[in-house]
This record gives sequence, structure tokens and C-alpha cells, in this order.
Amino acid sequence: MHKPSPPLEGPDAFQNQIRIVLVETSHSGNIGAVARAMKNMGLANLWLVNPNSFPDEASYARAAGASDILDRAQVTPTLDKALEDCVMVMGTSARGRKVPWPVVPPPEAAAIAAEQSHAGPVALVFGRENHGLSNDELHRCHYHIHIPSNPDYSSLNLAMAVQIMCYELRMLFLRSLEGGEGSPYLRPMLAPGDAGWDVPPAKVGDVEGFFGHLEQTLHDVDFHRRDNPRQLMSRLRRLFQRAKLDQMEINILRGVLSAVQKAAGVSGNTKQTQAGSEPTGQEDGHV
Ligand code: SAH
Repeated sequence: MHKPSPPLEGPDAFQNQIRIVLVETSHSGNIGAVARAMKNMGLANLWLVNPNSFPDEASYARAAGASDILDRAQVTPTLDKALEDCVMVMGTSARGRKVPWPVVPPPEAAAIAAEQSHAGPVALVFGRENHGLSNDELHRCHYHIHIPSNPDYSSLNLAMAVQIMCYELRMLFLRSLEGGEGSPYLRPMLAPGDAGWDVPPAKVGDVEGFFGHLEQTLHDVDFHRRDNPRQLMSRLRRLFQRAKLDQMEINILRGVLSAVQKAAGVSGNTKQTQAGSEPTGQEDGHV
């Protein structure tokens, strides 16, 4: 897929102020998977509170190409240490707790985190694989984030929960680019004329030239006798208009029609005069 070059993620990008904090992770492989999830989404600041085992082989194996995130990870003995210079703390939880707390879904949480990141570091805190964050840890958070999973099976793998939050932050970042219009990466590329398509869209005159050529060819091969010719052309027009042809496709189609005319023993290009335009090359099937 041809897309414009990726956006620059300079030192001011808010991602640099987002801190992913993992509390007492038991499986070091999950730490590696978190590093990978972060780097995929353009985040880099990983803090590990009293991990069971780190650094080790399993974490680096699961990090794949994101070992730099692990190299730079900060390891601290306590959650307090990881949070002390932050201006906001958001704790993730798979389930509701005894004392209800302000809770936000991931997209809104990302928006709040991005907003607050202008003032200083914002921590997103993730709990242990077996029993999440303690109530005490959750009470250190300004907000709780709940990923709205299946209530009967609500607990995601740690790295997957991190991935969802990092993805939301990335989407927010991409939407904010180009004066708020959003990154070209967010715009679908569906047809000629969309940014990234490899051939310019066919001009109306060229498409009309093709329709004239098509009608003439259908006439040359006696196809129109098998149907109502008027309706046939409207339906064929509708079909090709729906396809939004590009210039090369027009040339290919006209090359096909010329070959059909030749095989039918009529010379191509002389009778299809309705809309006038001539094919512009690459019409011999060698494309
Ligand atoms: N069994 C634990 C869940 C641990 S999952 C419990 O019931 O709390 C490990 C971590 O992944 C959680 O502490 C949380 O940080 C994150 N997580 C998993 N599922 C989540 C969800 N649905 N919403 C928010 N965070 C989730």
C-alpha cells in the first residue's frame, strides 16, 4: 500500500509523557509483550514495580524488536516511587471494586491522559496477572479504566490490556495531526483519486470514449440483439461507474475491446465516435 510517509513523532509528542507502570508482574514474558505493544503504538516509557523476574530471557524473547524499551525500563521497589513525579494516575481494573471510583472507558481515558500530559507525566497502571491491583493501589488513582470486556470473562491478558490503551493513545495522536484533520493513515484508500492510489482517476471524456467503444464493439459482435440495447448500456454504465476506473484500467479495457473487434473482423477505433476520445496506449494487453 502506498501511503504518505509516517508522521514525525518529535520530542514534544504527548506519548513521551505517558508512563506505562506494571505492578509486580509474575511472568516476565508478559513484560516483553507489553514492550512490544508499546513500541508498536509509539510509546516508550515503561516502569516496572517489583517485577518477579527482570531482566531475563523470556522478557527479551517476547519483546521481539522492542528490546530497547526493556533496556530503558525503570525498575522500582514501590508503586509510590513510580508515581511520585506524575500529575495524573489512571489504574486499570477488570472488575468493579467495593468503593466505586470514577471510571472511564479506554477512549475517554486516553483523551484525559493526553490532555493532562501537557502538565507532566501521566501514569497508566496495570496489575498482577493473578489478582490485579490491590484496593490500596487503586485508591492512589485519579481514575479507573475498565476495558468493557465480556462481564462473564472480563480479565484480559496483561499485555493485551496494555495494547488496547496504547492503541487508543495512538489513535488520538493520529487524529490530532495535520491541524486536527487527522493523519492520512486514518483515511481509507478505496479508489482512484484517494491519496496513495497509484494511477490517476480516468477523466470523464476518457470514460465516455470507453462507453462509446464498448457499445460499438457490442454492436460489432451482435451482442445487442440478445437484449434490450438501451437497458444493456445503462446497466453496463452503472457497473463501470461503480468501479471508479483509473486511467490505466480504461486503457486496458479499450485494448480488450480493440482485440475483440479485430477477432470479429472489424477494425477497431473507427466507429466508436460518440464521445470521441481515443485510447492512450497500453491497449494491447501488455500492461
Ligand atoms: N484477575 C485479575 C485481573 C488481572 S489481569 C483481576 O480480577 O483483577 C492483569 C491486569 O490486566 C489487570 O490488573 C489490569 O491492569 C489489566 N486488565 C485486564 N483486564 C482488564 C479489563 N477488562 N479492563 C481494564 N484492565 C484490565
